[in-house]
Amino acid sequence: MIAEKLTQVMRNIEIAKGNRNRYFDENVKLIAVTKNHDVNAMREAIDHGVKFVGENRIQEAMQKVETLDRSVEWHLIGHLQTNKAKYAVDLFDLIHSIDSERLMAEVNRVANKINKIQKVLLQVNVSEEKSKFGISTKEIEPFLDSVGQYDHIHLCGLMTIAPHYNNVEDARPIFRELFQIFCNLKLKSFKNVSMDWLSMGMTNDYMVAIEEGANLIRVGTGIFGQRQY
Ligand SMILES: *Cc1c(COP(=O)(O)O)cnc(C)c1O
Repeated sequence: MIAEKLTQVMRNIEIAKGNRNRYFDENVKLIAVTKNHDVNAMREAIDHGVKFVGENRIQEAMQKVETLDRSVEWHLIGHLQTNKAKYAVDLFDLIHSIDSERLMAEVNRVANKINKIQKVLLQVNVSEEKSKFGISTKEIEPFLDSVGQYDHIHLCGLMTIAPHYNNVEDARPIFRELFQIFCNLKLKSFKNVSMDWLSMGMTNDYMVAIEEGANLIRVGTGIFGQRQY
């Protein structure tokens, strides 16, 4: 089941790559979003080529790390509370959900303690949906200016979650807008910042996101089926 779904997602990625309107990176990396799926499901996906896993809860990820080996990269894709920054820094290779300077400062502080340079992405709420985390597009540049104060942070790109539309085409302008911002930022220089990763697209809209230039997509349901809560 998982193997077949994964094959289908990988095929779709190739199709979307062929239909790209714009991109800065030849490759697209797939993060298998494993939240609410058990380690057996994860092992099956890893055995079939998954190299990146995405979790959104610290507690759940900590339990899974203990039973799985670490031959995959662990990505935190969900909101991070400041008081859990320490666990996140211990565990995750890339944190996609930096959405305030306060959180970044805390991540920097705990990373310093274990002498780690923590890779993070800045979460942008392009559509300014009230229910979503992330800073607005106007706030991006001032935020990037501030990263220079935090030497245990390497901010290596941007992440967004598009609103859930019935017609995925409605998400396209959002992805396009962030791609344009991303490319403009690539031409500038900020200390402790590089624009390497553009994380956008989930099960519903990853093909559109790839067509609009994403090089990191986060797919859960499309690989593992519906989550049971
Ligand atoms: C859950 C989640 C995903 C995956 O969602 P699917 O619709 O199951 O693919 C991707 N990104 C974030 C931030 C998530 O929380």
